[in-house]
Amino acid sequence: MCGIVGYVGKRNAQDVLLDGLEKLEYRGYDSAGVALALEGGIRVVKSKGRLAELRKRLAVEALARSGCGIGHTRWATHGEPSDVNSHPHSTPRVSIVHNGIIENYLELRERLTKEGVSFCSDTDTEVVSNLIARLYEEQGDLLEAVRMAVARLEGSYALGIVCRDEPGQIIAAKKDSPLIFGFGEGENFIASDVPAILKYTRQVAYLDEGDMAVFTASGVTFYNALGEQVEKKPEKITWELSDAER
Ligand code: GLU
Repeated sequence: MCGIVGYVGKRNAQDVLLDGLEKLEYRGYDSAGVALALEGGIRVVKSKGRLAELRKRLAVEALARSGCGIGHTRWATHGEPSDVNSHPHSTPRVSIVHNGIIENYLELRERLTKEGVSFCSDTDTEVVSNLIARLYEEQGDLLEAVRMAVARLEGSYALGIVCRDEPGQIIAAKKDSPLIFGFGEGENFIASDVPAILKYTRQVAYLDEGDMAVFTASGVTFYNALGEQVEKKPEKITWELSDAER
């Protein structure tokens, strides 16, 4: 189990992500990290240890303000807790956060290795970032690449994906791990659960199995497991954070 969060909008994404990760830390706390879309590319800062360690590292790095990013708090399933095994996992173009287990990762890793891809972590997740990047190179279409990549995965995933070429956009995908979408005004969110974003919005939609969401600050498009565009109406959360923490 672990927690993911994603944000696009007018606020400082780093603050929103850290706020969300704090609320998700109960889901996993052996390491944490963020990827922020900045001029010149995606910057990733991650660290073994609790969220406090990531905060320290971010204070030192003092990244420029970004309005788009993804974050992760990890509970390791594949690969020990370490800086390199922490999420996000990245290629030069694509960064992802993942909650779940990719059961066929060894097979996928072997295939990608034969194609010349090299891996730096011991995680199951790193095959997903590389698979997406590889298919994106071949297809030239990011959404199609994500769709093709998840079709090859066996196991469970909630994914948040950012790409250097689409710095104001996040793609999310879900199967057998929880993922919600949060609707804002000129901003949008994803998270593993509601408390992570309740400070910012009460309008949420629950992603169903096989769903994908593609969103920017100004809008979202949802797709079902068949790749068909679907509407999702926001549901209003009526309980308070203090109720959830009780
Ligand atoms: N399987 C991934 C890892 O070990 C994600 C962990 C999780 O979802 O708890 O890094």
